[in-house]
Amino acid sequence: MIVALAGGVGGARLAVGLASVLPPQRLTFVVNTGDDFEHLGFAISPDLDTVMYTLAGVGNAVTGWGRAQETWNFMSALGQLGGETWFRLGDRDLAVHVLRTLALRRGISLSEITRVLATRFGIKHPVIPMTDSPLRTRVRTDCGELAFQDYFVRRGCRPRVQGFRFAGSRKARVPSVLQRIMHSGEVRAAVICPSNPYVSIAPILSVPEIRHWMKRRTFPVIAVSPIVGGAALKGPAAKMMRELGAEPTALGVVRHHGSSVDAWVIDQQDAKLQHAIEREGKLVIVTDTVMSDRGKSVQLAKRVVSFARALASER
Ligand code: GDP
Ligand code: CA
Repeated sequence: MIVALAGGVGGARLAVGLASVLPPQRLTFVVNTGDDFEHLGFAISPDLDTVMYTLAGVGNAVTGWGRAQETWNFMSALGQLGGETWFRLGDRDLAVHVLRTLALRRGISLSEITRVLATRFGIKHPVIPMTDSPLRTRVRTDCGELAFQDYFVRRGCRPRVQGFRFAGSRKARVPSVLQRIMHSGEVRAAVICPSNPYVSIAPILSVPEIRHWMKRRTFPVIAVSPIVGGAALKGPAAKMMRELGAEPTALGVVRHHGSSVDAWVIDQQDAKLQHAIEREGKLVIVTDTVMSDRGKSVQLAKRVVSFARALASER
């Protein structure tokens, strides 16, 4: 069994590849919920939706969020009536938010409604939110402390970042379905997908049970660098690194994750960093990590899984 930690777009791209390489009983996705928020009365889980839509093949590959072949009648009617339109919710996308909101209101857990929705989308692999508890990423910036979506969408990531806080993390518990997997003794490796280190992976690791489980691990952790050629392929990861005084390179990401990762997959554009990363005490493979289509996701996933197998069998 491999447990893969994922945020949104980068996580979802690798998830597609991993899901085509490993059967459902040997691969579990644990997804960030730090971006979740309540908006217009709906419970919105952006990263869960991106992973789910991408695995189901109904995601918008251009934006990385929302559904393909979307229409926007609800948004335009809402705008005409003076409603808030800074966070875009497409007509098809809305169906998921409505069902999730209704379920949560009836006392059904986020992990359970996610399981139901994923099944209805035809997804066979477990997609599990890192927690059912409310855990919200807060961004400390030069404009004050902001809720994640206020920073990310409303303000377009323009404020300078000074740090992050994961409100509710201390009390957050992992869903029981994930607890069973974590303690089954069947996990042979964890994969950290190429997701934003600060706002996709750190919130997952801020859940105490996950952090302790990773710390006491007997299995290897393999991560794919989300920084390629000194830049993020999408999103503010590199900007955040610069603002926080970290080097916006694969080496900077390696240093950021430190001992929580044993082995790294970096892009061929960053081959010159291999030795420096090895000097940090990490095993490294260099390959094409830019998942511009499904075939490339599968190719990368195969490399990651065989790396994980090799490391696991050495232990
Ligand atoms: P978000 O929640 O949608 O913002 O997405 P993530 O945190 O999962 O992903 C953002 C990170 O994914 C950025 O640092 C991107 O550079 C990285 N990323 C996106 N696509 C790819 C890819 O094809 N390959 C690699 N290596 N990284 C990617
Ligand atoms: Ca996200």
